[in-house]
Amino acid sequence: MQLLVKENTIRTPKGPSVSEALVWATALLRSARVDTPRLDAECLLASLLCCDRLQLYAALEKPLPSSVLEGYRALVARRQAREPLAYLTGTKEFWSLSFKVTPAVLIPRPETEILVETALRRLRGLQEPMIVDIGVGSGAIGVAIAKALPRARVHATEISGRALEVARENAGVHEVLGQISFLQGDLLDPLSARGLAGQCDLIVSNPPYVAASDLAALPPEVHYEPVEALNGGADGLRFHRRIIARAGALLRPGGWLALEMGPGQGRSLIKLFRDQGTFTDVEVARDLGGRQRVIIARHAVPGFTGHR
Ligand code: GLN
Repeated sequence: MQLLVKENTIRTPKGPSVSEALVWATALLRSARVDTPRLDAECLLASLLCCDRLQLYAALEKPLPSSVLEGYRALVARRQAREPLAYLTGTKEFWSLSFKVTPAVLIPRPETEILVETALRRLRGLQEPMIVDIGVGSGAIGVAIAKALPRARVHATEISGRALEVARENAGVHEVLGQISFLQGDLLDPLSARGLAGQCDLIVSNPPYVAASDLAALPPEVHYEPVEALNGGADGLRFHRRIIARAGALLRPGGWLALEMGPGQGRSLIKLFRDQGTFTDVEVARDLGGRQRVIIARHAVPGFTGHR
């Protein structure tokens, strides 16, 4: 890709200053319709210089070495092509923890913190909760829960071996490897041999939930992410259906199933839970934008068949 570099800005004798490079990159990113051009310009340069954004501001007038400038040009070009910032810097913050991300994993979204919050609220008071995270991806959910509950035990499944490596690495960095077992396979399949039937306090998952016909209209950045983590089939609920059908076998009576969902899927999901017949206390939580984002329900205690 040809970069529109203003010769006089970028080729001063000493090379451009940090400030000039930021102005140049911001203009390019703005013209590529990046949502937050200045912030992205700063994050890319800070990641290249292995410093934080505050340190950039302390060095605005310093010239950039030409080797850094070359690297910066390349990163800015990739961001102009709308490659996600998190893949370019290799990290994404979630639950105030820094997660490594690669194109093998979905980038953790802030709204998924609502899922973690909702799950943690239901686990209050339990001494050593047993948790399952289905489709662990980068590890964001499982690691956040393990960090918040040092006595929790998490079984994390993931069909992609490459994603599982990233999740394991993140668990290592956040020192919760001892709490999480990573199991490769489809949804709940890897758990059947683990003797967990009727043992789990909570099953949590952010399964793919974008309807196949909506995929093409997603922002350009999302097209760099693994489609297997996004494509939820015709109505987006293909994986929710399979999880709801099978979760009851693993949950202890009174255990919880918490799933992330897309706005507009609430009604169908409530019906799925009710039709399953073993879930009660179905509740929907909204994200900070007021959109329905998480559904949680309780596996009924034996002999209890009604719904609230
Ligand atoms: N929230 C994601 C998006 O809209 C979808 C995540 C998912 O399918 N689990 O891009």
